[in-house]
Amino acid sequence: MSTPEGLRPVDVLTVVAVTTVTPAVRRVTLTAPADVVAAAGPTLSLLVPRVADRSPVWPQVARDGRIVWPQGSHGVSMRRYTAKRQDPPAGELDVDFVLHGDGPAATWATAARPGDLLGVASAASLGEATAGWVLLVGDETALPAIGRILGAAAPTTRGVALVEVAGPEEQQPLPAPAGVEVRWLHRAGAVPGTGTLLADAVAALQPPGGDDVFAWVGAESAAVREIRADLRGRWGLRRTQHHAIGYWRRGRAASVAD
Ligand SMILES: Cc1cc2nc3c(=O)[nH]c(=O)nc-3n(C[C@H](O)[C@H](O)[C@H](O)COP(=O)(O)OP(=O)(O)OC[C@H]3O[C@@H](n4cnc5c(N)ncnc54)[C@H](O)[C@@H]3O)c2cc1C
Repeated sequence: MSTPEGLRPVDVLTVVAVTTVTPAVRRVTLTAPADVVAAAGPTLSLLVPRVADRSPVWPQVARDGRIVWPQGSHGVSMRRYTAKRQDPPAGELDVDFVLHGDGPAATWATAARPGDLLGVASAASLGEATAGWVLLVGDETALPAIGRILGAAAPTTRGVALVEVAGPEEQQPLPAPAGVEVRWLHRAGAVPGTGTLLADAVAALQPPGGDDVFAWVGAESAAVREIRADLRGRWGLRRTQHHAIGYWRRGRAASVAD
């Protein structure tokens, strides 16, 4: 339902379950009507209430998709996440939150319990494209996206997936076509976003050649910049052949609106 100014309320989903996936990842299962679940993803702009603020004032959405924030304090932050699973018939959607220890979203996820609310401002694609040979690169925050891309890939797809995690305890099942090699890279005590594990691993690869190649990268911004330069330079990938975006920025809040 929209107001006379053409504003409509955002979709608000309810937490039905919270599961520990690994020591650093918490899965929040949300419920909503089937059409809301179907439209909410795979990339989500989540509206996260401040944990201390139990009565958030949700923004509204204008006809052109713009988010219209309420005047004054509203107790809501917007952050981008990935729907790891969308099941419209069941009215359920899973989001895996990395508990990195700081920030409104990680704090919310750490405290989340059934009955809590989360808004969805908008949804988008993962930015992927199909190709005979794929390179997938990311850290824990990109694991849900990489899992979805691999899950939807044709069985004949070949390529390499490079995933950086803290250690073996953070590895998750990652079903992939037989021709895609999944490599786990362990930070082994290094602070997230400080090393060059992913960029070094990409630099060590021999580009497969040919046009039927697509690269997808999601990780800390500085690592993504370095990898993107390699893909555009040595790999010679055109803009349509790669999607490389910073999923978070070390030392900076991913603030869209706080
Ligand atoms: C398209 C897209 C999809 C994403 N999907 C997911 C997803 O499915 N799951 C997920 O967990 N994240 C995902 N992210 C990353 C997530 O949006 C960021 O990690 C975001 O900063 C978390 O917000 P926050 O409020 O917890 O922290 P912020 O307020 O943004 O940041 C607070 C502090 O925490 C630091 N920080 C933020 N993220 C991390 C991290 N991962 N490790 C260490 N320090 C960090 C920042 O540098 C800053 O110093 C996605 C990002 C994008 C762009």
